[in-house]
Amino acid sequence: MQAINVQSTKQEEFIDITSQVREMIREQKWQKGTLLLFCMHTTAGITINESADPSVVRDILVFLARTVPRQGDYKHLEGNSDAHIKSSLIGCSEQVIVDQGELVLGTWQGIFFAEFDGPRSRKVMVKWIGD
Ligand code: ZN
Repeated sequence: MQAINVQSTKQEEFIDITSQVREMIREQKWQKGTLLLFCMHTTAGITINESADPSVVRDILVFLARTVPRQGDYKHLEGNSDAHIKSSLIGCSEQVIVDQGELVLGTWQGIFFAEFDGPRSRKVMVKWIGD
């Protein structure tokens, strides 16, 4: 199992980790199979969406902020319930196909680490499932 380190610099942001995943595929010489990406945090997530226009992930963040306000009828003492809820909405894992040593993604797709309680040092675990 491998890991990708992610350093967020804002409280909330989407960080495109596609190039790091591609680099790992090259380094590990993975050819044909599936990658499981797993976020080991309760206030962050992993998602695949458009990477060509940065307004798309900006709009997702704005939607989530409006839907899950920072202050609310929350009991969690740490005061970051909104981040936990957003983490569950986005999800903590993604699977991607690798074929002939290349990520199989649509033209506009990228893999994003979704930070909801930064800035922090984060880790995405990567499990290779060969053919
Ligand atoms: Zn918490």
